[in-house]
Amino acid sequence: MPEAAVFSLNIMTAQAVGALLLAALFLYFARSYQHRYLWSWTYAWGLQSVSLIASTVAMWMVFQSHGAPSLSRTVISAISLGSSYAALAFLILGTYQALSDEERSLRLTWAFVGGAAAFGVVTALIAAHDPDGMAIRLMLRLGLRSAIQGTVLVVSGVLLWRGQDEGRRGRRFVAIGFLVYGALHLHATLLFLLPWVGIDADLSYANYQALFDLIAYTMIGLGMVIWLLDQERRRRRAARGELRVATTTDPLTSLPNRARFNDSLLREIDRANSRGEHLAVCLIDLDRFRVINETLGRAGGDAVLIEAAARISAAAGDHGFAARVGDDEFAAICAGAGDVHEAVAAAERLREVFREPFRLWEREVILHASFGVAVFPNDGHDPDTLAHKASIALTQVRKRGGESMMMVYADDMVAPTADDLDFEQDLRRAAERNELVLLYQPIVRLADRRIVGAEALIRWKRHGTEIMRPDHFLPRAEALGLMEEIDLWVLSQATRTAAEWAASHSEGFRLCVNLSATTFQHPQLIAHVEQVLKRSGLPPRALELEITEHSAMHDLDTGRANIDGLRDLGVAVCIDDFGTGYSSIGHLRDLPVERVKVDRSFVARALRDERDGAVVGAVVSLATSLDLAIVAEGVEGEEQAVFLDDLGIEELQGYLFHRPLNPDDLLSLLEMQGPYQPLQ
Ligand code: C2E
Ligand code: CA
Ligand code: CA
Repeated sequence: MPEAAVFSLNIMTAQAVGALLLAALFLYFARSYQHRYLWSWTYAWGLQSVSLIASTVAMWMVFQSHGAPSLSRTVISAISLGSSYAALAFLILGTYQALSDEERSLRLTWAFVGGAAAFGVVTALIAAHDPDGMAIRLMLRLGLRSAIQGTVLVVSGVLLWRGQDEGRRGRRFVAIGFLVYGALHLHATLLFLLPWVGIDADLSYANYQALFDLIAYTMIGLGMVIWLLDQERRRRRAARGELRVATTTDPLTSLPNRARFNDSLLREIDRANSRGEHLAVCLIDLDRFRVINETLGRAGGDAVLIEAAARISAAAGDHGFAARVGDDEFAAICAGAGDVHEAVAAAERLREVFREPFRLWEREVILHASFGVAVFPNDGHDPDTLAHKASIALTQVRKRGGESMMMVYADDMVAPTADDLDFEQDLRRAAERNELVLLYQPIVRLADRRIVGAEALIRWKRHGTEIMRPDHFLPRAEALGLMEEIDLWVLSQATRTAAEWAASHSEGFRLCVNLSATTFQHPQLIAHVEQVLKRSGLPPRALELEITEHSAMHDLDTGRANIDGLRDLGVAVCIDDFGTGYSSIGHLRDLPVERVKVDRSFVARALRDERDGAVVGAVVSLATSLDLAIVAEGVEGEEQAVFLDDLGIEELQGYLFHRPLNPDDLLSLLEMQGPYQPLQ
């Protein structure tokens, strides 16, 4: 055998071994990754190596038989060409699968591959035994195949290069391998064609083609490794990311939870520190969320939380962020402030989000929230300290019974102590220890100073001695969820006491009882009141319930329905602390109440200067225009009484007339004033 022939055979064998190795590599990948395109490419390289081995054998036979055609050589050529075209079919199929997720039917796949293989076999058979067919045979078996192979590889390479998914790097390596491999085949085709158009070509290059092929194989193999490793890494990273998000996100509101809040706060502190900025840490507690849950149900409560979360996080905006840190507690950070004042102002702006009522299934719910704020760097340098101080400020708000109130941490605020815990324990037991008492403050008709009613006001004789004003314990009772119990106790106690008075002084006398928002929004309120009235014997028209604008507006529909229900019983409703709320006139007009009680803060300010006087005038004319009766409370001086009289207010309450009294003292007063006479 000539030396050139041995060289050719060696190089073809090397090429076949290269293809076999590549097929083995793909088989390994296909088994571990189970991608469909990897299987297709495994078949492609497997068939390609079969084809190369067959053509090496065919070539050897050519050299052995000095080119004479034989049946066995034709069969081997048919195997070589059939598997070569089938390999091409799998190659393009794999490319298609790598770039799209679409499932192709199995039958179609085999039809495609089988068609390609049959085509290859046919090209092997044409002119197989024609002694003069050498040129045609070469053209069909080598030229045509190179042309098709080159085209398929270049097209696959271009498609892979342009594919849109992530992880382009490895895929592009594979694409380059395909392109190089394809270009080599097209180049070979060109060399075949040149003699046909009469140009002499230097065919010695063909000897090296197989070497270049091996380089292309290596690139494809390496590219595949990079591709899969990239994919694996991306998948792992994505999985880790998902896990992290899942464990640090509140599933209901999609806000970060407490853990992520602390992380982010730490980052924000670092940033503020390096920029010399201030930041506000706000703890936000929804007021009376329990009532919302009770009146609207869990789904309603959830909807409110979701909406509140969205509003807070939108308001925290680009310069901060929000998190859900408890059932009805949120936290927010306002960053980027130049000084403390700016930081507090930013926190203040967050409160605006509760101004607009919440719309829930055609209902309007007014939600309030209390804010505790701490400022970096003034109040602390680390997340724990800042969060702790913000929570102390929030506790302070709750202690003061503040609704919709914001407090900024100050050093004189103290953290809850053992005393506070005792206090709470005592408060829980106050009712059963008979430590709660009621005083009654008369309401007088200014014209003849006759007592026309009395407001029940609660006191707590803690340990039986120390007398505590409601402002000092009701807020805490509210926070502890004791308010309904207390209000119902007051209601039944006061109606029982007043029933005796009403027996002798019923005409024109009314008992006023304060109701907290929680009690007022209670779904069973009407039934409770009806029962209490029946038990005490107090006529319904002698009872008036005082609620704040706040509690009536809390959930307008429940509010309106409850007022209607009380009205049906014959019980009147009075809006207490009138003028201090911020409800719209439109809403007020909708509430079927009898009376308003102008808040004592207005009365106190009325005579201080003209502007305050004008404000009282405006509050009064608002009530008058709504056709409501008016009482003024907190009247301490004669001048105030004259001023209120001038405004047309007929009934007053205050120290000027009487302080809150024991029931016995009030009874004596009532007995003294004689039978009721209407004013002329
Ligand atoms: P309020 O409903 O505005 O009650 C009027 C408050 O003004 C009472 O304070 C009364 O003692 C006080 N007051 C009366 N006249 C004058 C005056 O001339 N000058 C001044 N400066 N104050 C006057 P009190 O008894 O400390 O009650 C405070 C608040 O606690 C009440 O404000 C009411 O909101 C609440 N409260 C009192 N008793 C009850 C109760 O039984 N149930 C509920 N839910 N709340 C109650
Ligand atoms: Ca009152
Ligand atoms: Ca008041």
